[in-house]
Amino acid sequence: MNRQILTYTLLLGLLLASAITYASEIKVRTSGGTEKIAAIGTGNKTYYSLSELNKTLNGKISWVTIGYSVKYVVDSYVYLFTVDSPYFNMNGKVYNLIHPIKIIKGALYVPAEAFTPYLNMARAENITWDNSGNTLRIDAEWFNITDVAVMSKTNGVLLEIFMTSQLIFEVYESEGNWLNINFPYAKINKNKILSGIDKKYIRSVNAFQFDSSAQVSFRLRRGYKKYYHTYKPNPIRLQISIEDVLFNPDSLNTDVNRIGPDEKIDVIVIDPGHGGKDYGAIGRGKRTREKDINLEIAKNLAKMIRKDKQFKVIMTRTKDKYVSLDERAKIANDAQADLFISIHCNASSKAQPNGHQVFYLAPAKTDAARAAAQLENAPFLLDDPTVEGENQDDLAFILNDMIQTQFLSESADLAYMCDVEMRKKIKIRPRGVDHAAFFVLNRVYMPSILVEAAFISNKKEEKLLRKKSFRKKVAEGIYEAVKRFKAKYERM
Ligand SMILES: [Zn+2]
Repeated sequence: MNRQILTYTLLLGLLLASAITYASEIKVRTSGGTEKIAAIGTGNKTYYSLSELNKTLNGKISWVTIGYSVKYVVDSYVYLFTVDSPYFNMNGKVYNLIHPIKIIKGALYVPAEAFTPYLNMARAENITWDNSGNTLRIDAEWFNITDVAVMSKTNGVLLEIFMTSQLIFEVYESEGNWLNINFPYAKINKNKILSGIDKKYIRSVNAFQFDSSAQVSFRLRRGYKKYYHTYKPNPIRLQISIEDVLFNPDSLNTDVNRIGPDEKIDVIVIDPGHGGKDYGAIGRGKRTREKDINLEIAKNLAKMIRKDKQFKVIMTRTKDKYVSLDERAKIANDAQADLFISIHCNASSKAQPNGHQVFYLAPAKTDAARAAAQLENAPFLLDDPTVEGENQDDLAFILNDMIQTQFLSESADLAYMCDVEMRKKIKIRPRGVDHAAFFVLNRVYMPSILVEAAFISNKKEEKLLRKKSFRKKVAEGIYEAVKRFKAKYERM
């Protein structure tokens, strides 16, 4: 083969390889026929060009902030996307797509599997995504809640609501032992739902279609202890496990089929703040660097948790190395971790401020919390292109509504446990629990906290932070909180 042919063969090979990795289009099937629009990726990682699909949907796409946030309006729905972020805002509420929104050659790309259900809500037609067929279907006649099943168990009852795609929902109780599950924007196939109900725990089931939501209501024969809910795939269904009020766990054999999803809390990500070129805060004597102290505490904590064989520990860094915000979040999200603990030392320009404090993610309420967030966010403001140059208001639309994410109460709970346990272990001023907008917590999809062990800028505490015994005590406090959290939240 001469050199020119070899070069062409290589080029052709490269072209073919890229064509395989990036399915360059998907099919859009409507009653009017099939057309093709631009796409990238394959299977459940497929993204399609919303810009191109929009020619069929007749919405309006516009930049809010060039290169940063995009607004999409279709029918009465308003979507706000942040480039490279999995979070988006739909009609004032924030949702998580797991996969980030992308801009490719000026066009808006959305993850097909995750985003299509939200697009579906805006439209009268039924829009569904089919991974295996690489096809987006747009059908005229549809229901998205298709069936309900009720199964009695030894300790309660398992309710299943079947649907064509994962829907957002709200559970609420009402007088007379009613448990109601409301699905905004959904359409329910009432006739099918009301057939064949197991009546041991459930007196009756009702289905309602309202203007802008659908609802399934279960009337229980008596009260319940607690309930859990979780989504299951294949077929897509929402499971609600209700523990009967008369159920006594001590009377059970271990091999009995109990209700509740199998959710273990056993993967912990420890994030030693800063590292490498990012020193974090520096002590008064310029000898103590926050990045080193954070790493020492984190290593201590990792060692303790690993010794306890119930946990797997992942660290975002084990050396003095710079790790970006995205990488930290990616490590945690890829590991599907159950907890994320970021370890830091606080600092102030004044010599006096002192004490330990635990934060969870929510918009800052106090000036002190805002100051701590600014301190920890500063290095990321420098190197994160999605954040650079943006004012707090632009970030606000992501952060404001983070309050509604499902981990907020768990994160707050973990923060309080950590605060209590640290008070027992270290005898410096407890500053308690607060919340603030820490970027590193903003991107992890799990309960998460940020611990400020002490003030490196306070001479006394700087001395303590340099002591092995003190760092060990801090780690012990956090470890106790992790164990308490597991005991409270783990379901077997
Ligand atoms: Zn820090």
